[in-house]
Amino acid sequence: MKRGLFSVKGWFVCEDQACQNRTRRLPIAFSRHGPICPACTRATLRPEYSEKALYNQLCFYRYIFDWDYAAAKVLRTEERSKTSSCFSLGSID
Ligand SMILES: [Zn+2]
Repeated sequence: MKRGLFSVKGWFVCEDQACQNRTRRLPIAFSRHGPICPACTRATLRPEYSEKALYNQLCFYRYIFDWDYAAAKVLRTEERSKTSSCFSLGSID
C-alpha cells in the first residue's frame, strides 16, 4: 500500500475562516487555485488532515530530527573508536 506524507482521508475544509465549510466530497467546480467551496463559492477547499495523520507527520519529523541527532552522535563515537558499521534506519512505524 502506498502511503504518502500528505495523503488525505476524506475531508476538505474551506480556507475562508468565516466560512469553514467542511465536506467529504470534492466539488465539481474548480478554480486555478483548487476546488471551489460550494458553500461560499468564493474560497477554495483545502484537504483537512486528520488528527492521526497530523500526529504521524509530527512523529515523522521528530524522527528525522532525532535521526540526525542520533547519527551525529554515533558518527562522533565511531570516529573515536575507529570502527565502522552500517546504521540502519529501520521502520518508521
Ligand atoms: Zn467556503
